[in-house]
Amino acid sequence: MSALAMFGGARAVPEQSIGQALVRWPVVTEDERSAVLRVLDSGKFTSNSMGLGEVQLLEREWAGYVGAPHCAALSNGTAAVALALAALGLQPGDEILVPALTFIGSIAGPVQRLIVPVFVDIDPRTFTMDPVAAEAAVTPRTRAVLAVHLHGLPCDMTALRELAERRHLLLVEDAAQAHGATYRGVRAGALGDAAAFSLNVTKNLPTCGEGGLVTTVSHEVHERMIRLRQFGEDLRPGRPRDYVSRVLAGNEKMSSVQAAFARSQLDRLPSYADARERNARRLFDRLGVLPGLVVPLVPEDRTHAWHILRIRFDPAAAGYPDVAPGPFRAALARVLQAEGVPVQPYQLVPLPGQRVFQTREGVGGGYPWSLPGVAEHDYRIEDHPVTMAVIEDSLTLQRWHLNPDSGPVLDLVADAFEKVWSHLDAVATIARSAPYTVPWAGSMAVAA
Ligand SMILES: *Cc1c(COP(=O)(O)O)cnc(C)c1O
Repeated sequence: MSALAMFGGARAVPEQSIGQALVRWPVVTEDERSAVLRVLDSGKFTSNSMGLGEVQLLEREWAGYVGAPHCAALSNGTAAVALALAALGLQPGDEILVPALTFIGSIAGPVQRLIVPVFVDIDPRTFTMDPVAAEAAVTPRTRAVLAVHLHGLPCDMTALRELAERRHLLLVEDAAQAHGATYRGVRAGALGDAAAFSLNVTKNLPTCGEGGLVTTVSHEVHERMIRLRQFGEDLRPGRPRDYVSRVLAGNEKMSSVQAAFARSQLDRLPSYADARERNARRLFDRLGVLPGLVVPLVPEDRTHAWHILRIRFDPAAAGYPDVAPGPFRAALARVLQAEGVPVQPYQLVPLPGQRVFQTREGVGGGYPWSLPGVAEHDYRIEDHPVTMAVIEDSLTLQRWHLNPDSGPVLDLVADAFEKVWSHLDAVATIARSAPYTVPWAGSMAVAA
């Protein structure tokens, strides 16, 4: 058994094995190059260019892929979440339920529109919103549930739909990480009243920069979306622009270059999704048998888009009941990184612990929390013990596995985990002796 790389042994994932063709993301081919050049030659650069341009074609193709009647292309995923809620009629001071484990992009846009976030703990196996905790968080001001399909796994949509119907709430998907994932055979994007996607270059369906999409079943919501993305104007292909701003709106359009690039990627999304499924399963088949290593659960009624791979660690199950989960995870991170495995945390703090929510220094200094009639919201991470535990005892793999040809590199990653598992006594020793601070120490400290 070779020595840990941390102590001078050879890396399980050697530098030279990480070929860019195997791990780069996004994969850019001749298709993307000619798509972008096609736009430059066409002279149609934005979504309001006359006729059927790249943006309209992307909207049409994405709606068809998802199985939703309408799709609007936007500037990014953050705008997509915010405009979806606005188009559904949410008002300043309305509350929405948001999982305590997600990216700030889920909620930054809505809060800027003076919508009040109410955080809900997650399920420990799926990492998505716990429907029972969601029910407990409903107040008379709650208007919507933001179902974040975190890491690419759809939420328990039956339970959330039942909750929404019982309490008269809107159900909105944040599918920024879940392109192509399904719940009971229905694709993310067709599971709620509206759904937001990100086409950021890091996501499973990337563009060459920034982009977003909103799908909806409602013709009216879609029409409002079109106005909200461009100055409140009612723009139609083939009709002269009338410059009438019907509602107050900014500019959140997508450019044609972004749309053309994303359309090329969409052509390959089904085959890439199949490759990710194969590669992730193969990796987790090997990791899942290591004691104290908990691989992601995919309930039988769902498919996973595998945007992020999250692994939890249980030191007691690994044979070290005296070692706490946080120090064990921290020691594993160091040892695995030395082996060449790019494990990293995803979010260091439950979202309510983000400094902006601790200080509630919102729009204009205090809105939405200082709006008349808005209840006191004292955000406490202790209200979300599952999220805290998951952040403390898990690590993620990001990016490499998005490349459909990453299989051989992921095999080396599995080798590295197996190697580290044959040295767990050393890992436990590091965990017992190394200084440790909780991941959220830095995020929560309020600047003096
Ligand atoms: C990326 C992301 C967003 C925001 O998308 P952008 O295109 O980066 O603005 C929102 N929610 C989640 C869950 C995300 O992962």
